[in-house]
Amino acid sequence: MPLKSLPEYERLAEAAHGHLCAGQILGLRMALHGVQLLGMDDPAGVDRKRLVTFVEIDRCATDAIPVVTGCRLGKRALKFRDFGKVAATFCDLRDGRAVRLSARESSKQRARELYPEIANKNQQQMRAYRELADEELFESQWVRVRIGPEDLPGYKAPRVVCAECGEGISFKREVARDGRVLCRACAGERYYEPL
Ligand SMILES: [Zn+2]
Ligand SMILES: [Zn+2]
Repeated sequence: MPLKSLPEYERLAEAAHGHLCAGQILGLRMALHGVQLLGMDDPAGVDRKRLVTFVEIDRCATDAIPVVTGCRLGKRALKFRDFGKVAATFCDLRDGRAVRLSARESSKQRARELYPEIANKNQQQMRAYRELADEELFESQWVRVRIGPEDLPGYKAPRVVCAECGEGISFKREVARDGRVLCRACAGERYYEPL
């Protein structure tokens, strides 16, 4: 399934996300620009094993990215780095190339300039984000991303069991502490407190 048109992606994104909004359109445009810069025309099909995407915010735009790229958290092809930025890095595993795109701060202002008559900000931005050139929407930079084998899709390794809580741990996420093998929670990285 080669790349589709933006309206087609919008329909798919709306179904996946529950509504269509400016953030979704920005995310779709970002993903399309990213895969095009990498020269991939079938990211969710033929090229699906080539692509890993890092996203930097947990907002609407992030939900739209897998609609184009096919990269999903459960396939280990979508990585979340919580930097609070509307930005994503698209990595081509085959060619070892990666491009990071970030949404320009000026894009909201550009939307106001283009469609001052549209009072609703979301509608104004949706319209503008469909039409603005990639360069007006995004800053792009070629980067190097080092992805260890344990972070790649398809990585296989024996599961180990935490010496403290007894839960199984995959993908080398265990921690050695005083001669014992612990999960990250028991090693002190717990984000929850047992009641
Ligand atoms: Zn949304
Ligand atoms: Zn544990």
